[in-house]
Amino acid sequence: MVVPFQIHHGVLQGAREVPSPNFNQRPTNTEIQLIVIHNISLPPSQFGNPYIEAFFQNRLDYTVHPYFQTLKGLQVSAHLVILRTGEVIQCVNFADRAWHAGRSTYLGKPECNDYSIGIELEGSDDTAFEPIQYEVLAHVVQAIQQEYPKAIHLAGHSDVAPIRKTDPGPFFEWNHFRTLLRTIKSDALTK
Ligand SMILES: [Zn+2]
Repeated sequence: MVVPFQIHHGVLQGAREVPSPNFNQRPTNTEIQLIVIHNISLPPSQFGNPYIEAFFQNRLDYTVHPYFQTLKGLQVSAHLVILRTGEVIQCVNFADRAWHAGRSTYLGKPECNDYSIGIELEGSDDTAFEPIQYEVLAHVVQAIQQEYPKAIHLAGHSDVAPIRKTDPGPFFEWNHFRTLLRTIKSDALTK
């Protein structure tokens, strides 16, 4: 049973804070309109290690694995990471601009980082996500949409950067996620 989340001053209550230096300000008068879903694992398809957090904090030891060499010098982040256990990590305040989408376009509007929230699921393009990750993601999105009512759009990284990116990948079950989200919202209305 996932307890509903609340957001105070851009911080998701109950998330573990792992601050990333990889952010800047959103352009002035920019409202959050989009939530971008990603997957990440370092190295790919290996889970339960500290490397994602280290990567987002620019303290990944690039000598640990050959794949890490390809990440050298990259400065990226996401607002949230949802681990396989369902634990949520917050790396960037929602009010700030995290560096997750890169060059991107949504419905003709470029620079998704300006007006989106980025959520990484610990996962890969070739592995099913954990049921708890869907539950937590749905509750998190419900909390975000309650706090930022314009954030009605949901997209995958592959939707906003289709030539460069494949995540959240074929194993991300959009229908299941949307059904959970709808259920949570209608439950909230009847309470
Ligand atoms: Zn991504």
